[in-house]
Amino acid sequence: MNMDQARSHRIRLGNEEILCLVRQSARRRSIAVRVDEKGLTVTIPARLRQAEWESVLQSKSGWILDKLGALRARPMPVALWQDGQPLPYLGSAIELQLTPGTPRPTPRLLDGQLHIGLSSPLTTDVIEKRVVHWYRQQALLFFQQRIAALQRQLDVVANSVSLSSARTRWGSCTSRGDIRLNWRLIKAPPSIIDYVICHELSHLVELNHSPAFWQVVGSLCPDYLALRKALKIAGASYYDF
Ligand SMILES: [Zn+2]
Repeated sequence: MNMDQARSHRIRLGNEEILCLVRQSARRRSIAVRVDEKGLTVTIPARLRQAEWESVLQSKSGWILDKLGALRARPMPVALWQDGQPLPYLGSAIELQLTPGTPRPTPRLLDGQLHIGLSSPLTTDVIEKRVVHWYRQQALLFFQQRIAALQRQLDVVANSVSLSSARTRWGSCTSRGDIRLNWRLIKAPPSIIDYVICHELSHLVELNHSPAFWQVVGSLCPDYLALRKALKIAGASYYDF
């Protein structure tokens, strides 16, 4: 019998919100923390309180963030749409799981794995289409939530939120408050997504890139310089698919 359970959990470490896979193991007596190409995984004894393992992660946050940063700087293998393929998602990696014989049309994210049912062998472009469709859905939901939270802090209101797939920009905002965000941003860590959203919302105060504009951005997102640089470095890899 398998007593192990796993679930995804979001935790704030330093200035970053990290997607963490929490595995509960009936056999473990101590906490194990691992950072690899799949992201952050913590394995905990069954019935350990959340506050306890969270404080262990906090105490190791410097090490975790350094290791995640080093892993992100490495290019991820180009998507071949095969079983087990790592895919970038919210700053870590999820694993593509192709499950033959289960004709579930909609991809599902479960324990860090994106499950796609295959009723018959699918060509790689059909798999890619399904994955991209799922990414776009998640992106819109995530962006809407973050815009709702961040616009309150700036006391502005976005008129509409939609997705773009522009090759040249991550976001845009009109004077009417129509915000468009590149769906590929959902591959980035939440802190970078927040920076882009803060940038676009700040255009509702200053419709230019003047020093006054950057001051507004900074009031909402104090780390914007580092995050903007991180997006410049990592951004090209988000266009793999
Ligand atoms: Zn701008």
